[in-house]
Amino acid sequence: MPVSVGVIDAHAHVGAFGSWAGVSCTARELLSAMDSSGVEKAVLFAPDNVLVRRSVAKHPSRLIGYVWPNPHDRGALGLVREALTDWGFKGIKLHPLLNAFLPTDEEVLPIVEFAEKQRVPVAIHSGHAPFSLPWSIGELAEIYPKVRFVMLHMGHAHGVCIKAAIDTAKRHDNIVLETSGVSMHSKIKEAVEVVGEERVMFGSDFPFHDYSVELRKVEVAGLSGKQKELVFRENALKLLF
Ligand SMILES: [Zn+2]
Repeated sequence: MPVSVGVIDAHAHVGAFGSWAGVSCTARELLSAMDSSGVEKAVLFAPDNVLVRRSVAKHPSRLIGYVWPNPHDRGALGLVREALTDWGFKGIKLHPLLNAFLPTDEEVLPIVEFAEKQRVPVAIHSGHAPFSLPWSIGELAEIYPKVRFVMLHMGHAHGVCIKAAIDTAKRHDNIVLETSGVSMHSKIKEAVEVVGEERVMFGSDFPFHDYSVELRKVEVAGLSGKQKELVFRENALKLLF
């Protein structure tokens, strides 16, 4: 059931995610899910950057592309440069867990420096040891105070990591928290209260999670009407693209 305010999704995928995940979707399936859930726009990223580029080109008013480099690849910085300057992509996604690096590893820094130069956000997967713990993302945010970091999943499914995500974002005002996959709805309200209503935003992580579940989680978190507007829509419009 669509929510009562317009929604921007800060985190969606296209393509196939095999191995343990076993999920996939096409751009058409994503858009159909967005339509039936009242989601106006979604930030899109996937390991297959060409597929993201093609999907965004087909639906430019609905999808916003972020580039997903593997910092271990020699061509990572070149890919990021091309995507941000030639393809019209609006940000960078990093997945320390999947691509096996620490946020502060040497090969990551030139990518974040380019984000700083281009003034685009860096969205980072959070929640899993040893590579994507909130504390490590905080260390990167401390090195680059001018870069806006979106902590995807705000610690994800582990209570201690969720608490760490909130504490870390409180310490670094260049971190924004994103709600997809977070296992405790009560922590969304806590994040809004502790970190600030302008630094928490809705994300689905479609097709890993369904819109009906992810939207409901924010709906029942106990936010005021104004806070819901900020989390579901306004913060993303201001901070993501
Ligand atoms: Zn994701």
